[in-house]
Amino acid sequence: MGHLRFDVVQGAFKKKAVAVETPAGKPSDYFGSLVFGRSNMRKYLDSHTYERLIRCVDDGVPLDAATADKVAEGMKVWALEHGATHVTHWFQPLTEGTAEKHDAFLTPDGSGGVIEQFDGKSLVQQEPDASSFPNGGIRATFEARGYTAWDPTSPVFIQDDTLCIPSVFVAYTGEALDYKTPLKKALKALSDAAVPVCQLFDPKVKRVYSFLGWEQEYFLVDEDLFAARPDLMLTGRTLMGHSSSKNQQLSDHYFGAIPSRVAAFMKDVETAGYRLGIPLKTRHNEVAPNQFEMAPVYEEANLANDHNQMIMNVMTRIARKHGFVVLFHEKPFEGINGSGKHNNWSMGTDRGVQLLAPGKDAKGNLQFITFFVNVLAAVQRHNGLLKASVASAGNAHRLGAHEAPPAIVSAFLGQTMTQVLRKLLELPSDTPIEIAGKKGRGVGVVEIPEIFVDNTDRNRTSPFAFTGNRFEFRAVGSSANCAGALTVLSAAVAQQLTAFKAAVDGAMAQGKPLETAVMDCLKPLIGQVLDTLCFDGNGYSEEWKELARERGLDTESSVPRMFSQFTAPSSVELFTQTGIYNLKELEARNDVKWETYSTKVLIEARMVARMAINHILPAGVEYQRRLLKNLDLMRQNFPDHWQTMAATQTGLIRECSALLADMKTRTDQLNAAREAAEALDNAYEKAVAAEKAASAIGLLRQSIDKLEELTDNDLWPLPKYRELLFIN
Ligand code: ADP
Ligand code: MG
Repeated sequence: MGHLRFDVVQGAFKKKAVAVETPAGKPSDYFGSLVFGRSNMRKYLDSHTYERLIRCVDDGVPLDAATADKVAEGMKVWALEHGATHVTHWFQPLTEGTAEKHDAFLTPDGSGGVIEQFDGKSLVQQEPDASSFPNGGIRATFEARGYTAWDPTSPVFIQDDTLCIPSVFVAYTGEALDYKTPLKKALKALSDAAVPVCQLFDPKVKRVYSFLGWEQEYFLVDEDLFAARPDLMLTGRTLMGHSSSKNQQLSDHYFGAIPSRVAAFMKDVETAGYRLGIPLKTRHNEVAPNQFEMAPVYEEANLANDHNQMIMNVMTRIARKHGFVVLFHEKPFEGINGSGKHNNWSMGTDRGVQLLAPGKDAKGNLQFITFFVNVLAAVQRHNGLLKASVASAGNAHRLGAHEAPPAIVSAFLGQTMTQVLRKLLELPSDTPIEIAGKKGRGVGVVEIPEIFVDNTDRNRTSPFAFTGNRFEFRAVGSSANCAGALTVLSAAVAQQLTAFKAAVDGAMAQGKPLETAVMDCLKPLIGQVLDTLCFDGNGYSEEWKELARERGLDTESSVPRMFSQFTAPSSVELFTQTGIYNLKELEARNDVKWETYSTKVLIEARMVARMAINHILPAGVEYQRRLLKNLDLMRQNFPDHWQTMAATQTGLIRECSALLADMKTRTDQLNAAREAAEALDNAYEKAVAAEKAASAIGLLRQSIDKLEELTDNDLWPLPKYRELLFIN
């Protein structure tokens, strides 16, 4: 049986890079060519329609039906010129990933022929039969149909033959059934709360934008090897596999030369991304073998998140052309790094000021410190909820292991900012904050070094790190929709800024000047975050877990229990105050989270148990049979000495028997744990029970991996880690 594996491995190894199709011209020539952006709007819409659409996009002024018809007509003409035949509302249901239902432009013309048609109504709204999307009981309970509605702030694009219209997905009763709706509400809540704070420093500010720069990590596996691993095919991760003799110890993969087959894949993805208007900037090898990363230039958060979802689709499809399968699972391989999606996040005003970067003068710096400290205070207050926002069955294997942040949300500021905050606490509240070097070294001045932005130290163990002009939320999983984390973060910061503004107003009403009022309100927050949230040490250490518990940070490590944070009183207050979710939505979403968790774990449980019995047990038994055959022959040929001569074989047979027995027992235990979970109806209880099955999966894999180490390589029926990870 082993030969099959060797054939697959040899075939995979011999593959050469696929020739890439590079369009004529420079990337800037074809960037955004498949996007109905402003230049196409200008070209395909009359000036009145264009103006109305821009006001809709920029200021949220609704489109009237007649204008929507004209917009749809312009889009259609453009789409037909680019070979599109279909149109779809493109949305982000709670499954992770995107959904689309294509309708042809083709319509009977009433006299036996057909024409291409697309009107404003179909642009603005669609009604997919949504009953099969996760909804946590909302639709069943209220018998509401769901509908998708165009999000005009994210541009329409063409994928293959289809015009895709970025949309929100909501129930008829108004509850959000997707990721985009709450994200948009949260971004608005944040802007609404941040603007009055900005106006303390610059009365002309009218809007605050959130920015996101994601760093997408992923693995590539040869598709033939992938197809020979049922666990990868069905669950996206290996449920067994002894670690390779060499894996990432030498760190020789990180930033190494990109293998040629992979480089061709990346090139194709970039070309497709550029056409879709995604400003892809960085590509490199990651730490683990066959692990890579891709990152664009940061953009407005809602658009950036759409772009992330789009590029994940593009990568999945283009990988097949290159004979790869792309893995977005957070932990496809045990014992080496998992994949995350760092969310680089910041805010800026419509006047072009970055709110998380030092300013030009003392006032600008005070504004920076104000936002910086309020973000930290928000993260501290909702640290458990933020952790819950990134928790998932997949991320559970990653957080706290191999170069991933632990399951505790703390913040890393770097030495410079820590010192600045400490000094601010000591000095009088009206002390100016200057950039060092500008006015000489003043006494009684808090200084931020000039080169500070490029100079922040890195702490890889921190889940929430300040990196000079932004925070980097590193705990987000590679398969996640960034909106999950960003919605919570934005809501928390919005709530905190509103409270802060009220406090400053109160202090100013008592006659304090602005600077003193602001600093007086910041000081208690600074003291509190330095003592509780901020941690510059080794986040991987056991001592940190203990210390974090003493500091009152959330140290819950059970994923199903983490989700309960969403309906904790402090979270319900947060989401209802900011208008992002009502209680019904929160409860429904938690049901979806628990169900998704159990479903994933229980599929893994069934899969690994079947593989234990159908793949591994037969290999082990066959190995034993060969050894026993060998014993027989020894006895026949060396009747006097065979026992001493065959000591090794006898030992191996015993070891193998013991491992097979272990494996069988653990399979039975896993099946029992799985069945116990399956028997439960309540979503939360089922998830908690499924978590027990998850540990049983881990135990079973240990026996299997030991058997792999022992068994004749020739008989092993699955591609091994060294093959999956080193062929590209
Ligand atoms: P690394 O953290 O690995 O050094 P990079 O320096 O390449 O990565 O940056 C990672 C991401 O952070 C990129 O997408 C980049 O555009 C983004 N980024 C840079 N500045 C900001 C900012 N002010 N707000 C949000 N994202 C930002
Ligand atoms: Mg980074």
